[in-house]
Amino acid sequence: MDSTKKNNPVYSTSDTAKVALTEEEWKKILPADVYYIARQKGTERAWTSKFESFKEVGTYYCAACGNPLFKSDTKFESGCGWPSFYEPISKSSIIYTPDNTHGMVRTEVQCGRCKGHLGHVFDDGPPPTGLRYCINGVVLDFEKAKEAEKNYKEKPAQ
Ligand SMILES: [Zn+2]
Repeated sequence: MDSTKKNNPVYSTSDTAKVALTEEEWKKILPADVYYIARQKGTERAWTSKFESFKEVGTYYCAACGNPLFKSDTKFESGCGWPSFYEPISKSSIIYTPDNTHGMVRTEVQCGRCKGHLGHVFDDGPPPTGLRYCINGVVLDFEKAKEAEKNYKEKPAQ
């Protein structure tokens, strides 16, 4: 947990209870860039996320509440400029909402725990789902699969 989470009492990677705060409360506990995307449905500029071409093995969480969202093995290079995944960790990770703004018919994806805006899902992704979850990197937290990696390294060479 980094210092930006110190003021965030709802942040938890294990608590699945839904989070419902007022916008005022969110504004107080979230860093400005996370607040802009998660609560005001903003979009980060393409190619600005460090997660866009990130290849570490681990888990991605909602940066606003800590809800587990995606695993690194469902991440793929979409070339669209935002971190892309083909499948969320579980059905409860994500809420889907029709979005007809900006003259487009899209499906917005929100965090299943805090309803923070994450990005959109499109149907031009790779198998097995054929979906492309196009997600703002600002609202993602990443945790390296430390234990899995350690076990792998400690395996004696055959
Ligand atoms: Zn969340």
